[in-house]
Amino acid sequence: MHPWIADRTTTFDSSGIRRVFDLAANLKDPVNLSIGQPDFDVPAEVKAAAIEAIQNGKNAYSPTQGIGPLRQAIKDRVDQQFGHADRDVFISSGTSGGLMLSMMAMVNPGDEVIFLDPYFVMYPALLKLCGGVPVPVDSYPDFHLDPDKIAAAITPKTKMILLNSPANPTGVTATREQLEAVALLAAKHDIALVSDEIYSRFFYDGQFSTPADFNEQTIVIDGFSKSHAMTGWRVGYVHGPQEIIATMLKIQQYSFVCAPQPAQWGALRALEVNLDGHIDDYRRKRDMIVDGLKDHYEFTTPGGAFYLFAKAPIASGAEFVETAIKRGLLIIPGNIFSDRDTHFRLSFAAPDATIQAGIEMLVELAK
Ligand code: PMP
Repeated sequence: MHPWIADRTTTFDSSGIRRVFDLAANLKDPVNLSIGQPDFDVPAEVKAAAIEAIQNGKNAYSPTQGIGPLRQAIKDRVDQQFGHADRDVFISSGTSGGLMLSMMAMVNPGDEVIFLDPYFVMYPALLKLCGGVPVPVDSYPDFHLDPDKIAAAITPKTKMILLNSPANPTGVTATREQLEAVALLAAKHDIALVSDEIYSRFFYDGQFSTPADFNEQTIVIDGFSKSHAMTGWRVGYVHGPQEIIATMLKIQQYSFVCAPQPAQWGALRALEVNLDGHIDDYRRKRDMIVDGLKDHYEFTTPGGAFYLFAKAPIASGAEFVETAIKRGLLIIPGNIFSDRDTHFRLSFAAPDATIQAGIEMLVELAK
């Protein structure tokens, strides 16, 4: 290793993902079910608002906490929804920026952070950068949030519980009762509760719930990347207790500085866009993939997001994915998101024809 590289970067690696990209690079026209962003484009009025902002000279730094109108519009919504006296809001550089700042602001070296396994890849990596200790709670085989398992993982060193519903990579959603139980558990033990709600709009059966309804101290992280297909624009937002938000802002000031200003004007317009058509379309895509695979693979029907996490028909998920990729089907091995190597993730954020082709290949592979 190069002598200049800091120790903190060696506690995690990204070789698993790189291996998938390397394998995929040799494919001419793959059936791609690996994408973690919607297949629709940014709404036209959102593009227009960002272009208008650029042409009107809104190209400088914004205030650290975000442009006034966007921050205020989100704050008004948050205040109306929760009515929590101590809840403040800021605009982050994507949900990822919010996640990173939340850990930098709250996790001391040696602090334990509980989250479900399978998990979003960034969670253990970011935590380790901060010196935190990941405590993944196994949620196989159905991936549901079991408050008793969370309770059993709590130790005197537990600093944070990190929730993600709807979840990446499983698409599984927590029930209101499960969220309430975990929210009360966090309050009882005085543990920080962070809720990554980036897939909140992609909720197919019933209504989205947030643990912040049950715990006023919950730190909620959300953003525009998935809902409005703005992954490259880097606009997210965080709301939570004022003092925590102020601490996160202090770090943002000296790191990200702000979310890109033109993108924030686009996000302001995005708040007015009706997404129902897209969500109905993604519910239909969800049904399509579930119907196509249910007789051939073992999985929990995703209630949200745009992923399905299925058990591989052979022992190793990674080996199965390698075979699939060699045949031209791009999916992601489950071991990237998990301490186990038994599953694979597919994304149904794809055109119908791609989903159909993927189903046919997977049915063939299951034999
Ligand atoms: N959280 C989860 C669970 C995600 O899946 C993603 C994107 N893959 C993010 C956060 C980050 O999203 P962004 O930084 O684009 O807002």
